[in-house]
Amino acid sequence: MEKELKVNGLTFVPYITEDEISRQVKRVAGELRDSLTDPDPILLCVLNGAFMFAADLVRELGLNDAKINFVRYSSYSGTSSTGNVKEIIGLTEDIKDRDVVIIEDIVDTGLTAQHMIEDLTKKGPKSIRFATLLHKPESSKTGFVPDHIAFSIPPKFIIGYGLDLDGKVRNLKDIYVIKEED
Ligand code: 5GP
Repeated sequence: MEKELKVNGLTFVPYITEDEISRQVKRVAGELRDSLTDPDPILLCVLNGAFMFAADLVRELGLNDAKINFVRYSSYSGTSSTGNVKEIIGLTEDIKDRDVVIIEDIVDTGLTAQHMIEDLTKKGPKSIRFATLLHKPESSKTGFVPDHIAFSIPPKFIIGYGLDLDGKVRNLKDIYVIKEED
């Protein structure tokens, strides 16, 4: 693990190691497996940030009958008074009466998660569970609390293990946090 990392002129320092991530992903997988009632849930990996977490989580889950979908949001300015509306794209499975698990990289304000759950609920799933790699509870604007959380962190900007800065550094095995000014 590098001591310091410079990305786009910003300095980042090590925060969560690959080993610690691996331990918590195993824990979350176990908890998630115990909470699911059906052996064949639909797993929704939210691109781009969750790709690495999802890859590790689904391997730990070991549910061969689960179908894995990769979804994204498209944001557009709608005519509604709320302004930005997010729509899920890439969902190819019919989720009616099915157990759905959303796999997300990070819940910050909770607005994205809330939009997604509202959107999916309209499609009539049996249940929706929400698993996230990271949660910033102090940033919440919605009160939304994910069902499964690998790490709760303070409201600081982090990168690595799928999370980017301007599209870069998603490849990092460890998680880094932005360095505080001295
Ligand atoms: P929310 O709707 O919960 O405010 O935002 C969630 C999205 O914001 C995440 O999916 C992610 O794309 C982005 N985000 C929030 N915090 C961070 C962070 O610390 N680092 C990175 N790389 N992205 C973040």
